[in-house]
Amino acid sequence: MTIAIVGAGLGGLALARVLHVHGIEAVVYERESSRHARGQGGMLDIHDDTGQRALREAGLIDRFAAIARGEGQDMRLLEPDGTLLLQEDTPDDAPFARPEVDRADLRDLLLDSLPEHTVRWGHAFESAEDGVVRFANGHSATYDLLVGADGANSRVRALLTDARPAHLGHNLVELRIPDIDRTHPDLAAMVGRGTYWVLGDGKSLAAQRNGDGTVRVGLSFYGTAEDWFATNGMPLDDPAAARTWLIGRLDGWEARFTALIAACDDVIVPRSISSLPVGLTWPSAPDVTLVGDAAHLMPPVGEGANMALLDGALLGLALAARPDDFPAAVKEYEHEMFERATAAARMSERVHELLAAPDASRKMLAFFQPG
Ligand SMILES: Cc1cc2nc3c(=O)[nH]c(=O)nc-3n(C[C@H](O)[C@H](O)[C@H](O)COP(=O)(O)OP(=O)(O)OC[C@H]3O[C@@H](n4cnc5c(N)ncnc54)[C@H](O)[C@@H]3O)c2cc1C
Repeated sequence: MTIAIVGAGLGGLALARVLHVHGIEAVVYERESSRHARGQGGMLDIHDDTGQRALREAGLIDRFAAIARGEGQDMRLLEPDGTLLLQEDTPDDAPFARPEVDRADLRDLLLDSLPEHTVRWGHAFESAEDGVVRFANGHSATYDLLVGADGANSRVRALLTDARPAHLGHNLVELRIPDIDRTHPDLAAMVGRGTYWVLGDGKSLAAQRNGDGTVRVGLSFYGTAEDWFATNGMPLDDPAAARTWLIGRLDGWEARFTALIAACDDVIVPRSISSLPVGLTWPSAPDVTLVGDAAHLMPPVGEGANMALLDGALLGLALAARPDDFPAAVKEYEHEMFERATAAARMSERVHELLAAPDASRKMLAFFQPG
Protein backbone atom coordinates (compact mmCIF):
# COMPACT_ATOMS: atom_id res chain seq x y z
CA MET A 1 0.00 0.00 0.00
CA THR A 2 1.40 3.36 -1.03
CA ILE A 3 0.98 6.40 1.20
CA ALA A 4 1.58 9.81 -0.42
CA ILE A 5 1.87 12.75 1.99
CA VAL A 6 1.63 16.27 0.55
CA GLY A 7 3.61 18.79 2.63
CA ALA A 8 6.80 18.47 4.69
CA GLY A 9 5.61 20.62 7.59
CA LEU A 10 5.32 19.35 11.15
CA GLY A 11 2.15 17.29 10.52
CA GLY A 12 3.37 15.53 7.39
CA LEU A 13 6.80 14.79 8.83
CA ALA A 14 5.40 13.46 12.14
CA LEU A 15 3.19 11.10 10.14
CA ALA A 16 6.08 9.89 7.96
CA ARG A 17 8.27 9.36 11.03
CA VAL A 18 5.69 7.36 13.05
CA LEU A 19 4.98 5.21 9.98
CA HIS A 20 8.74 4.65 9.58
CA VAL A 21 9.07 3.62 13.23
CA HIS A 22 6.37 1.00 12.51
CA GLY A 23 8.08 -0.27 9.36
CA ILE A 24 5.85 1.51 6.83
CA GLU A 25 7.61 3.77 4.32
CA ALA A 26 5.68 6.74 2.92
CA VAL A 27 6.71 9.42 0.43
CA VAL A 28 6.43 13.12 1.34
CA TYR A 29 5.98 15.55 -1.56
CA GLU A 30 7.01 19.12 -0.70
CA ARG A 31 6.69 22.16 -2.98
CA GLU A 32 9.75 23.96 -1.54
CA SER A 33 12.97 23.19 -3.42
CA SER A 34 14.96 22.22 -0.27
CA ARG A 35 14.78 22.34 3.52
CA HIS A 36 16.59 25.69 3.43
CA ALA A 37 14.42 27.27 0.71
CA ARG A 38 12.40 29.38 3.15
CA GLY A 39 13.00 30.71 6.66
CA GLN A 40 10.90 28.70 9.10
CA GLY A 41 10.07 31.58 11.44
CA GLY A 42 10.26 31.76 15.20
CA MET A 43 9.55 29.68 18.28
CA LEU A 44 6.88 27.11 19.10
CA ASP A 45 5.84 26.02 22.58
CA ILE A 46 5.40 22.26 22.48
CA HIS A 47 2.89 20.96 25.00
CA ASP A 48 3.39 17.85 27.11
CA ASP A 49 0.02 16.26 26.31
CA THR A 50 -0.07 16.94 22.55
CA GLY A 51 3.10 17.93 20.69
CA GLN A 52 5.44 16.12 23.12
CA ARG A 53 3.14 13.09 23.09
CA ALA A 54 3.59 12.96 19.31
CA LEU A 55 7.36 13.17 19.69
CA ARG A 56 7.28 10.31 22.21
CA GLU A 57 5.36 8.18 19.69
CA ALA A 58 7.95 9.18 17.09
CA GLY A 59 10.80 8.02 19.37
CA LEU A 60 12.28 11.53 19.33
CA ILE A 61 11.54 12.91 22.79
CA ASP A 62 15.15 12.70 24.04
CA ARG A 63 16.46 14.49 20.98
CA PHE A 64 13.69 17.07 21.43
CA ALA A 65 14.73 17.65 25.05
CA ALA A 66 18.25 18.45 23.83
CA ILE A 67 17.04 21.29 21.57
CA ALA A 68 14.10 22.62 23.65
CA ARG A 69 14.45 25.69 25.88
CA GLY A 70 12.65 25.36 29.23
CA GLU A 71 13.55 28.94 30.17
CA GLY A 72 11.67 30.06 27.04
CA GLN A 73 8.50 29.58 29.12
CA ASP A 74 9.28 32.85 30.97
CA MET A 75 6.60 35.46 30.43
CA ARG A 76 6.08 39.16 31.11
CA LEU A 77 2.72 40.80 30.50
CA LEU A 78 2.46 44.58 30.36
CA GLU A 79 0.08 47.37 29.49
CA PRO A 80 0.92 50.02 26.84
CA ASP A 81 1.59 52.61 29.60
CA GLY A 82 4.34 50.34 30.95
CA THR A 83 2.46 48.77 33.91
CA LEU A 84 3.83 45.27 34.57
CA LEU A 85 0.87 42.94 35.20
CA LEU A 86 2.56 39.56 35.37
CA GLN A 87 6.07 38.18 35.47
CA GLU A 88 6.67 34.44 35.44
CA ASP A 89 10.24 33.16 35.60
CA THR A 90 10.76 29.46 35.03
CA PRO A 91 12.73 27.73 37.82
CA ASP A 92 15.61 25.53 36.64
CA ASP A 93 13.85 22.39 37.91
CA ALA A 94 10.42 23.27 36.45
CA PRO A 95 8.68 20.45 34.59
CA PHE A 96 9.08 20.48 30.80
CA ALA A 97 5.39 21.42 30.36
CA ARG A 98 5.57 23.84 27.44
CA PRO A 99 9.21 24.37 26.47
CA GLU A 100 9.99 26.51 23.47
CA VAL A 101 11.83 25.24 20.43
CA ASP A 102 12.99 26.96 17.25
CA ARG A 103 10.64 25.87 14.48
CA ALA A 104 13.57 25.20 12.13
CA ASP A 105 15.31 22.97 14.74
CA LEU A 106 12.14 20.93 15.25
CA ARG A 107 11.62 20.51 11.51
CA ASP A 108 15.29 19.48 11.11
CA LEU A 109 14.88 16.93 13.91
CA LEU A 110 11.99 15.32 12.05
CA LEU A 111 13.67 15.54 8.62
CA ASP A 112 16.88 13.96 9.95
CA SER A 113 14.90 11.08 11.47
CA LEU A 114 13.63 9.91 8.07
CA PRO A 115 15.42 7.76 5.51
CA GLU A 116 17.07 9.72 2.70
CA HIS A 117 14.76 10.43 -0.26
CA THR A 118 11.59 10.15 1.86
CA VAL A 119 10.98 13.82 1.09
CA ARG A 120 10.75 14.70 -2.60
CA TRP A 121 11.50 18.44 -2.77
CA GLY A 122 10.18 20.65 -5.58
CA HIS A 123 6.90 18.73 -5.89
CA ALA A 124 3.96 21.16 -5.67
CA PHE A 125 0.65 19.30 -5.55
CA GLU A 126 -1.68 20.17 -8.42
CA SER A 127 -4.41 17.53 -8.53
CA ALA A 128 -5.33 13.96 -7.58
CA GLU A 129 -7.81 11.57 -9.13
CA ASP A 130 -8.29 7.80 -9.31
CA GLY A 131 -5.18 7.02 -7.28
CA VAL A 132 -2.84 9.28 -9.25
CA VAL A 133 -1.39 12.51 -7.84
CA ARG A 134 0.04 15.15 -10.21
CA PHE A 135 2.60 17.84 -9.47
CA ALA A 136 3.39 21.22 -11.01
CA ASN A 137 6.83 19.95 -12.16
CA GLY A 138 5.10 17.48 -14.50
CA HIS A 139 5.74 14.40 -12.33
CA SER A 140 2.97 12.10 -11.14
CA ALA A 141 2.75 9.18 -8.70
CA THR A 142 0.23 6.54 -7.68
CA TYR A 143 -1.20 6.22 -4.17
CA ASP A 144 -3.56 4.11 -2.11
CA LEU A 145 -3.87 6.83 0.54
CA LEU A 146 -3.27 10.54 -0.05
CA VAL A 147 -2.69 12.69 3.05
CA GLY A 148 -3.00 16.47 2.73
CA ALA A 149 -0.48 17.99 5.15
CA ASP A 150 -0.17 21.10 3.01
CA GLY A 151 -1.01 23.73 5.59
CA ALA A 152 -3.35 26.71 5.84
CA ASN A 153 -3.99 27.12 2.11
CA SER A 154 -4.21 23.39 1.45
CA ARG A 155 -5.10 22.36 -2.07
CA VAL A 156 -5.73 18.74 -1.07
CA ARG A 157 -8.54 19.96 1.24
CA ALA A 158 -10.81 20.61 -1.79
CA LEU A 159 -10.97 16.82 -2.38
CA LEU A 160 -12.94 16.50 0.89
CA THR A 161 -14.72 19.77 1.65
CA ASP A 162 -15.63 23.15 0.14
CA ALA A 163 -14.69 24.92 3.41
CA ARG A 164 -12.18 27.77 3.04
CA PRO A 165 -10.32 29.84 5.64
CA ALA A 166 -12.01 33.14 6.53
CA HIS A 167 -10.12 36.28 7.62
CA LEU A 168 -10.17 36.91 11.38
CA GLY A 169 -9.94 40.70 11.25
CA HIS A 170 -6.34 40.32 12.39
CA ASN A 171 -3.22 41.43 10.56
CA LEU A 172 0.24 40.76 11.89
CA VAL A 173 3.60 42.33 11.10
CA GLU A 174 6.65 40.22 11.96
CA LEU A 175 9.99 41.94 12.60
CA ARG A 176 13.26 40.88 14.19
CA ILE A 177 16.34 42.07 16.07
CA PRO A 178 19.23 39.72 15.25
CA ASP A 179 22.06 39.23 17.76
CA ILE A 180 20.25 41.36 20.35
CA ASP A 181 22.68 40.71 23.23
CA ARG A 182 25.46 42.44 21.32
CA THR A 183 23.49 45.09 19.43
CA HIS A 184 20.90 46.12 22.07
CA PRO A 185 21.76 44.65 25.49
CA ASP A 186 19.27 46.96 27.24
CA LEU A 187 16.39 45.66 25.10
CA ALA A 188 17.67 42.07 25.53
CA ALA A 189 17.42 42.45 29.32
CA MET A 190 13.95 43.95 29.01
CA VAL A 191 12.60 41.09 26.87
CA GLY A 192 14.26 38.43 29.03
CA ARG A 193 14.51 34.70 28.22
CA GLY A 194 10.98 34.11 26.98
CA THR A 195 7.98 36.11 25.81
CA TYR A 196 7.42 39.81 26.46
CA TRP A 197 3.84 40.80 25.79
CA VAL A 198 2.23 44.24 25.64
CA LEU A 199 -1.53 44.17 25.07
CA GLY A 200 -4.08 46.92 24.68
CA ASP A 201 -6.30 49.13 22.53
CA GLY A 202 -6.83 46.58 19.73
CA LYS A 203 -3.11 45.98 19.24
CA SER A 204 -0.52 43.66 20.70
CA LEU A 205 3.23 43.46 20.69
CA ALA A 206 4.85 40.09 21.36
CA ALA A 207 8.64 39.97 21.55
CA GLN A 208 10.23 36.56 21.94
CA ARG A 209 13.81 35.42 22.33
CA ASN A 210 14.83 32.70 19.88
CA GLY A 211 17.56 30.11 20.45
CA ASP A 212 19.95 31.84 18.02
CA GLY A 213 19.97 35.15 19.92
CA THR A 214 17.43 36.82 17.64
CA VAL A 215 14.40 38.48 19.20
CA ARG A 216 11.34 38.24 16.99
CA VAL A 217 8.68 40.91 17.37
CA GLY A 218 5.08 40.39 16.25
CA LEU A 219 2.82 43.45 16.05
CA SER A 220 -0.85 42.52 15.75
CA PHE A 221 -3.64 44.83 14.63
CA TYR A 222 -7.10 43.53 15.50
CA GLY A 223 -10.34 44.73 13.93
CA THR A 224 -8.58 45.30 10.60
CA ALA A 225 -9.85 44.18 7.19
CA GLU A 226 -8.54 41.46 4.92
CA ASP A 227 -7.14 44.04 2.48
CA TRP A 228 -5.49 46.06 5.25
CA PHE A 229 -1.93 45.69 3.96
CA ALA A 230 -3.04 46.84 0.50
CA THR A 231 -4.94 49.87 1.76
CA ASN A 232 -3.28 51.13 4.96
CA GLY A 233 -0.42 53.05 3.36
CA MET A 234 2.34 51.17 5.19
CA PRO A 235 5.43 51.44 2.94
CA LEU A 236 6.43 47.77 2.96
CA ASP A 237 9.00 48.36 0.20
CA ASP A 238 10.92 50.82 2.44
CA PRO A 239 11.72 49.06 5.75
CA ALA A 240 12.94 52.16 7.61
CA ALA A 241 9.80 54.08 6.63
CA ALA A 242 7.67 51.03 7.50
CA ARG A 243 9.16 50.95 11.03
CA THR A 244 8.41 54.66 11.43
CA TRP A 245 4.86 54.05 10.19
CA LEU A 246 4.40 51.21 12.72
CA ILE A 247 5.73 53.34 15.58
CA GLY A 248 3.17 55.98 14.55
CA ARG A 249 0.42 53.41 15.13
CA LEU A 250 1.56 52.97 18.76
CA ASP A 251 0.55 56.43 19.87
CA GLY A 252 0.66 56.69 23.68
CA TRP A 253 2.74 53.50 24.10
CA GLU A 254 5.83 53.73 26.34
CA ALA A 255 9.07 54.70 24.59
CA ARG A 256 10.79 51.39 25.47
CA PHE A 257 8.15 49.51 23.45
CA THR A 258 8.57 51.66 20.37
CA ALA A 259 12.36 51.35 20.85
CA LEU A 260 11.92 47.63 20.17
CA ILE A 261 10.44 48.41 16.75
CA ALA A 262 13.12 50.99 15.98
CA ALA A 263 15.82 48.39 16.72
CA CYS A 264 14.51 45.87 14.18
CA ASP A 265 16.33 45.13 10.94
CA ASP A 266 14.94 45.32 7.41
CA VAL A 267 13.22 41.91 7.31
CA ILE A 268 9.52 42.73 7.71
CA VAL A 269 6.89 40.06 7.03
CA PRO A 270 3.18 40.94 6.73
CA ARG A 271 0.72 38.16 7.65
CA SER A 272 -3.02 38.14 7.21
CA ILE A 273 -4.59 35.79 9.79
CA SER A 274 -7.44 33.41 8.86
CA SER A 275 -9.07 30.29 10.28
CA LEU A 276 -11.33 27.46 9.14
CA PRO A 277 -14.81 27.15 10.67
CA VAL A 278 -14.66 25.68 14.18
CA GLY A 279 -15.96 22.10 14.20
CA LEU A 280 -15.27 21.45 10.50
CA THR A 281 -15.82 17.79 9.52
CA TRP A 282 -16.30 15.93 6.23
CA PRO A 283 -17.66 12.52 5.22
CA SER A 284 -14.74 10.10 5.45
CA ALA A 285 -13.21 9.06 2.11
CA PRO A 286 -11.33 5.75 1.82
CA ASP A 287 -8.28 7.20 0.08
CA VAL A 288 -7.84 10.85 1.22
CA THR A 289 -7.49 12.57 4.58
CA LEU A 290 -5.95 15.71 6.10
CA VAL A 291 -3.67 16.56 9.03
CA GLY A 292 -2.70 19.85 10.67
CA ASP A 293 -3.72 23.27 9.39
CA ALA A 294 -5.16 21.69 6.24
CA ALA A 295 -7.78 20.04 8.48
CA HIS A 296 -8.33 22.68 11.18
CA LEU A 297 -6.55 26.02 10.70
CA MET A 298 -7.18 27.92 13.96
CA PRO A 299 -6.24 31.34 15.38
CA PRO A 300 -2.46 31.36 16.13
CA VAL A 301 -2.46 31.23 19.92
CA GLY A 302 -0.17 28.24 20.40
CA GLU A 303 -2.17 25.13 19.50
CA GLY A 304 -1.72 24.67 15.73
CA ALA A 305 1.74 23.10 15.64
CA ASN A 306 0.91 20.87 18.59
CA MET A 307 -2.26 19.64 16.89
CA ALA A 308 -0.42 19.07 13.60
CA LEU A 309 2.24 16.93 15.31
CA LEU A 310 -0.36 14.89 17.17
CA ASP A 311 -2.54 14.43 14.07
CA GLY A 312 0.45 13.04 12.19
CA ALA A 313 1.43 10.69 15.02
CA LEU A 314 -2.09 9.41 15.66
CA LEU A 315 -2.84 8.85 11.98
CA GLY A 316 0.45 6.97 11.72
CA LEU A 317 -0.46 4.78 14.70
CA ALA A 318 -3.95 4.08 13.31
CA LEU A 319 -2.52 3.05 9.91
CA ALA A 320 0.16 0.88 11.55
CA ALA A 321 -2.54 -0.88 13.61
CA ARG A 322 -4.65 -1.63 10.49
CA PRO A 323 -2.23 -2.11 7.59
CA ASP A 324 -4.86 -4.12 5.68
CA ASP A 325 -7.69 -1.66 6.18
CA PHE A 326 -6.60 1.94 5.59
CA PRO A 327 -10.21 3.25 5.18
CA ALA A 328 -11.09 2.01 8.69
CA ALA A 329 -7.87 3.49 10.08
CA VAL A 330 -8.64 6.86 8.46
CA LYS A 331 -12.16 6.86 9.89
CA GLU A 332 -10.88 6.06 13.37
CA TYR A 333 -8.25 8.82 13.14
CA GLU A 334 -10.75 11.41 11.86
CA HIS A 335 -13.27 10.59 14.57
CA GLU A 336 -10.76 11.40 17.34
CA MET A 337 -9.16 14.31 15.44
CA PHE A 338 -12.49 16.09 14.77
CA GLU A 339 -13.35 16.09 18.47
CA ARG A 340 -9.87 17.10 19.68
CA ALA A 341 -9.40 19.80 17.02
CA THR A 342 -12.84 21.27 17.70
CA ALA A 343 -12.03 21.66 21.41
CA ALA A 344 -8.63 23.25 20.61
CA ALA A 345 -10.16 25.56 17.98
CA ARG A 346 -12.88 26.67 20.38
CA MET A 347 -10.30 27.51 23.04
CA SER A 348 -8.09 29.29 20.47
CA GLU A 349 -11.05 31.33 19.27
CA ARG A 350 -11.80 32.37 22.85
CA VAL A 351 -8.22 33.45 23.55
CA HIS A 352 -8.10 35.28 20.22
CA GLU A 353 -11.22 37.24 21.22
CA LEU A 354 -9.57 38.17 24.54
CA LEU A 355 -6.47 39.40 22.71
CA ALA A 356 -8.59 41.57 20.43
CA ALA A 357 -10.53 43.18 23.31
CA PRO A 358 -9.85 46.85 24.24
CA ASP A 359 -8.82 45.74 27.76
CA ALA A 360 -6.89 42.69 26.49
CA SER A 361 -4.11 42.89 29.08
CA ARG A 362 -6.53 42.67 32.04
CA LYS A 363 -8.52 39.92 30.31
CA MET A 364 -5.37 37.87 29.66
CA LEU A 365 -4.23 38.42 33.24
CA ALA A 366 -7.54 36.94 34.42
CA PHE A 367 -7.07 34.09 31.92
CA PHE A 368 -3.61 33.26 33.32
CA GLN A 369 -4.64 33.81 36.94
CA PRO A 370 -8.29 32.72 37.18
CA GLY A 371 -10.07 33.47 40.43
C1 LIG B 1 2.46 33.84 13.23
C2 LIG B 1 2.15 32.44 13.65
C3 LIG B 1 2.63 31.97 14.86
C4 LIG B 1 2.35 30.67 15.29
N1 LIG B 1 2.82 30.24 16.50
C5 LIG B 1 2.50 29.01 16.94
C6 LIG B 1 2.92 28.54 18.22
O1 LIG B 1 3.61 29.24 18.97
N2 LIG B 1 2.57 27.29 18.61
C7 LIG B 1 1.80 26.49 17.81
O2 LIG B 1 1.47 25.36 18.22
N3 LIG B 1 1.40 26.89 16.59
C8 LIG B 1 1.72 28.12 16.13
N4 LIG B 1 1.29 28.53 14.92
C9 LIG B 1 0.55 27.60 14.07
C10 LIG B 1 1.49 26.62 13.40
O3 LIG B 1 2.49 27.33 12.69
C11 LIG B 1 0.74 25.73 12.41
O4 LIG B 1 -0.45 25.29 13.00
C12 LIG B 1 1.60 24.51 12.02
O5 LIG B 1 2.77 24.92 11.35
C13 LIG B 1 0.80 23.58 11.11
O6 LIG B 1 1.61 22.54 10.65
P1 LIG B 1 1.25 21.84 9.27
O7 LIG B 1 2.24 20.74 9.13
O8 LIG B 1 -0.19 21.52 9.24
O9 LIG B 1 1.45 22.96 8.17
P2 LIG B 1 2.75 23.78 7.76
O10 LIG B 1 3.73 23.85 8.88
O11 LIG B 1 2.26 25.06 7.17
O12 LIG B 1 3.40 22.89 6.61
C14 LIG B 1 2.77 22.73 5.37
C15 LIG B 1 3.82 22.31 4.34
O13 LIG B 1 3.16 22.01 3.11
C16 LIG B 1 3.86 22.59 2.06
N5 LIG B 1 2.92 22.84 0.95
C17 LIG B 1 1.95 23.77 0.88
N6 LIG B 1 1.28 23.67 -0.28
C18 LIG B 1 1.84 22.64 -0.95
C19 LIG B 1 1.58 22.03 -2.21
N7 LIG B 1 0.61 22.49 -3.05
N8 LIG B 1 2.33 20.97 -2.59
C20 LIG B 1 3.31 20.48 -1.78
N9 LIG B 1 3.61 21.02 -0.57
C21 LIG B 1 2.88 22.09 -0.17
C22 LIG B 1 4.44 23.88 2.65
O14 LIG B 1 5.54 24.37 1.90
C23 LIG B 1 4.84 23.40 4.04
O15 LIG B 1 6.14 22.87 4.07
C24 LIG B 1 1.57 29.82 14.46
C25 LIG B 1 1.10 30.29 13.22
C26 LIG B 1 1.38 31.59 12.82
C27 LIG B 1 0.83 32.09 11.50
